[in-house]
Amino acid sequence: MASNIRETLESMIRENGPVSIATFMGLVLPHYYGTRDPLGREGDFITAPEISQMFGEMIGVFLADAWIKMGGPSPVALTEAGPGRGTLMADILRATRHVPGFADAVRIHLIETSPSLRARQRDVLGGYDVTWHDDITSLPDMPVLFVGNEFLDALPIHQIQYAKGQWHERVIGLSVAGDLVYGLGLPVAPPMGVQGAAEGDIFEHAPARVDFTKALADHIRHHGGVAVLIDYGHDRSACGDTLQAVRDHKFVEVLSNIGDADLTSHVDFDALKRAIEDDVAVSGPVGQGAFLYRLGIGLRAEKLQQPDMLHRLASPDQMGELFRVMAFCGDRSIHLEGFA
Ligand code: SAH
Repeated sequence: MASNIRETLESMIRENGPVSIATFMGLVLPHYYGTRDPLGREGDFITAPEISQMFGEMIGVFLADAWIKMGGPSPVALTEAGPGRGTLMADILRATRHVPGFADAVRIHLIETSPSLRARQRDVLGGYDVTWHDDITSLPDMPVLFVGNEFLDALPIHQIQYAKGQWHERVIGLSVAGDLVYGLGLPVAPPMGVQGAAEGDIFEHAPARVDFTKALADHIRHHGGVAVLIDYGHDRSACGDTLQAVRDHKFVEVLSNIGDADLTSHVDFDALKRAIEDDVAVSGPVGQGAFLYRLGIGLRAEKLQQPDMLHRLASPDQMGELFRVMAFCGDRSIHLEGFA
């Protein structure tokens, strides 16, 4: 399988010339996610909900609190994008089952493109009525309680590179020897908000991430609701090459592991915030550690006797700082828990 996707990429380049990083990711990622379960010890990477149930419990507390502050709308679409193994959704549902009226109000909606992960989610959420979607456009016209953990980072980015006084699309092509190599494509307009670029600087922008977040904010503006997005990334747009390939829990060469490694990059929360802040009330981004502590993970970890899991999820040298949490809500008068 893996060699096929590499061959597909190579013949694409031979026929039409070098491809952008976004085209490359858009080709490889559906193949990668569609053909395996990439999560957990046996897979390529591990995520917060797979580390401990406490993560999903705190997200459940966050969403139920927001739902109560919104006046307890019913029905409400409890929606997750990129649900992986379904662990986070299962933990949210278990943690909220005693919130009066909540279980009756929620309709479960999952946005997931991978057939193999959909099957996994169906197993894990067996007792529940679930509706799957290919993308955000088919969500029902009702308020949403939305969560996406490590979802945005799976959507493609463009890289542009500064060379000889000009920004260019960064591309992947084939060398004379037939190897996949990076190169510079057509000149492009300079990125917003980046001054004083130096030779070789790389800037990343992600229309797919911005468009998804805008569509979600638009839904919330029209129908009400709240969204929380958790991902690794930065609060301020800045230059830097953050494209990474991860295989078997280690960083590997992007161009040497086509289709056999996860591809991710940091999320530019600044760009997302700019795109939606006129339409919805944005909270954060804040560090995952601070967010989880404000929701009570400290006490929960004591009760469950999971100090190691707490450390992994919330300590600054683990996932506590690099992972950022941003939320937004249609009602500017509501204070969302977890944010200062
Ligand atoms: N949220 C999970 C899994 C993160 S991995 C967790 O925290 O464990 C990324 C998830 O996003 C996978 O379920 C993958 O199949 C899904 N995904 C990737 N690209 C997608 C897209 N364009 N639309 C919907 N889901 C996508």
